[in-house]
Amino acid sequence: MRILFDYIVIGAGFAGTVIAERIARINNKKVLVIEKRNHIGGNAYDTYDHSGVLVHQYGPHIFHTKLKEVWEYLSEHTEWYLYHHKVLGKIDGKEVPIPFNLDSLDQLFPSDMAKRLEKKLIENFGFNVKVPILKLKDTQDEDLQFLANYIYEKVFLNYTMKQWGMKPDEIDPYVTGRVPVYISRDDRYFQDPFQGVPKYGYTKLFESLLSHPNIKLMLNTDYKELININMEEKKIYFGEKEYTGKVIFTGKIDEFFQYKYGELPYRSLQFQFDTIQEERYQKVGTLNYPNDYDFTRITEFKKLTGQNHPHTTIVREYPVSYDKEVEGQNIPYYPIPKEENHLIYKQYKKEGSLYENVYFLGRLAEYTYYDMDAVVAKALKVFRDKLSCE
Ligand code: FAD
Ligand code: UDP
Repeated sequence: MRILFDYIVIGAGFAGTVIAERIARINNKKVLVIEKRNHIGGNAYDTYDHSGVLVHQYGPHIFHTKLKEVWEYLSEHTEWYLYHHKVLGKIDGKEVPIPFNLDSLDQLFPSDMAKRLEKKLIENFGFNVKVPILKLKDTQDEDLQFLANYIYEKVFLNYTMKQWGMKPDEIDPYVTGRVPVYISRDDRYFQDPFQGVPKYGYTKLFESLLSHPNIKLMLNTDYKELININMEEKKIYFGEKEYTGKVIFTGKIDEFFQYKYGELPYRSLQFQFDTIQEERYQKVGTLNYPNDYDFTRITEFKKLTGQNHPHTTIVREYPVSYDKEVEGQNIPYYPIPKEENHLIYKQYKKEGSLYENVYFLGRLAEYTYYDMDAVVAKALKVFRDKLSCE
């Protein structure tokens, strides 16, 4: 029997929309995209708030990549506002560059001491080199030990406690390694060659990706309303009928398997938005507060988007534990990179590999702390390797 849709994509974030676009355009096949929220874009969704300021509803999103293929692919669907993100951290009453760099050092220490520490850093690691804090803490040199402990205490310890409920050394070193100490005077948050935000917003980019006539989008629909997974037969049912097309699943992999190996833990966030009747609020896009308040950072959206507007909107991020049953804590923003969680994930992954026609893709389905570019790259790769020319 002929099926109406050759592919079903679950979730309309970056993973789902990119794979749907490829299938629709390159394979010229019909795709049904099922999304439980009332909008596309997943956590990269943006919208104009009540005062007309473009905001990122699920926290600040800056696109940055080394991958030319990814940049060029998305550039077919958007122009860019070429923004290079800057972050300051409030340390000892001063606002200094984050990642912590040589300028941060100069601003926080007396000049002779700063010079000595800079010299030692460069001698030990080189110039323009990124050193994860946990690696810097391993150095034997007494001065560098002192500096490492200072940065650890003032930049990483309390921020990480707030963000993850854990100390930096209790979580995968990858996490704090994302924001290494940078032996440089480059005060940008990322050094990738391609950086920016979509000129007309992320949502417009997603609209363009999904605009192909082969794509049918269903919002406000949890896939479980339409799809059943028979875990004994390892088959997918669409309503009562077996579904013989392909499924690309970008939701939580533990949910897909009805939590049979237990729940994969996540961190969630609560966002507090404020519109201020002033043209600007802070010096840079994001101000981190490692040591004060319950929130981790404040972002001013106009700095990221370049929008001209007489007022400005900011967001404070309050980390909370994730609980799928509790309103306000039920969005799984961050997988928690820890060995014990990875072991649970591996069981789900193995189970997933037994389903011939299901592909698991994205931050939730692969339980991986992906940035947007990595998700796009993975979607393009899965399409190229597994789904193209069908
Ligand atoms: P998602 O965006 O989570 O999309 C998954 C989709 O599946 C969602 O729309 C969800 O509603 C849907 N779904 C889930 N379950 C179901 C269901 N049962 N039925 C139907 N639909 C379902 N990355 C960067 O590169 N730069 C940044 O600056 C950046 N900042 C970030 C800031 C924050 C606060 C957060 C949380 C993330 C940030 N990211 C950033 C990461 C970025 O959000 C992710 O890489 C990207 O959104 C992952 O896309 P995805 O499609 O895998 O997942
Ligand atoms: N981090 C920190 N202090 C900072 C900035 C980052 O301790 O001022 C740590 C913290 O553990 C955080 C991680 O580095 O979760 C990664 O930071 P990033 O800005 O990449 O996080 P994201 O933007 O993904 O929330």
